Amino acid sequence: MAYDKNNIFAKILRGEIPSIKVYEDAHALAFMDINPAARGHTLVIPKVEAEDLFDLPAAAAAPFLLATQKVAKAVKAAVKAPGIMVSQHNGSEAGQTIFHVHFHIIPRWGGDHALHGKQADLKELEETAKLIRDQL
Ligand code: AMP
Repeated sequence: MAYDKNNIFAKILRGEIPSIKVYEDAHALAFMDINPAARGHTLVIPKVEAEDLFDLPAAAAAPFLLATQKVAKAVKAAVKAPGIMVSQHNGSEAGQTIFHVHFHIIPRWGGDHALHGKQADLKELEETAKLIRDQL
């Protein structure tokens, strides 16, 4: 499948649709997941056109991972989570719904097995985003 330039994350990268951003550098953008599986659930995307992990150019991999590490550290501190899960889906069969490669950063507190996202309260999402930005 060819990369679709009109996927939601490509539109977020171009500023065509809004997002609650927490971090941006030359290679990556991080923003709050609109249907968080936990408080602080953040997404990180590279600025290259790559549908999934297999499509990611080698040169883009390290900066993408480094941005994810940096943001995950900030999320952990911001929401005081003892654990952080970083996950990534490749293909609809694996649960991928948006075809621009992304990492999910999901705080975990233990015993929280039901990780189904539900639509966030935007005010609460903005407040959590500010806590994360303050750690960056
Ligand atoms: P995946 O299932 O790995 O493709 O994850 C896509 C994620 O993007 C889901 O967790 C959605 O809640 C999230 N999502 C979809 N649209 C938006 C949006 N406009 N802003 C922020 N997150 C979004």
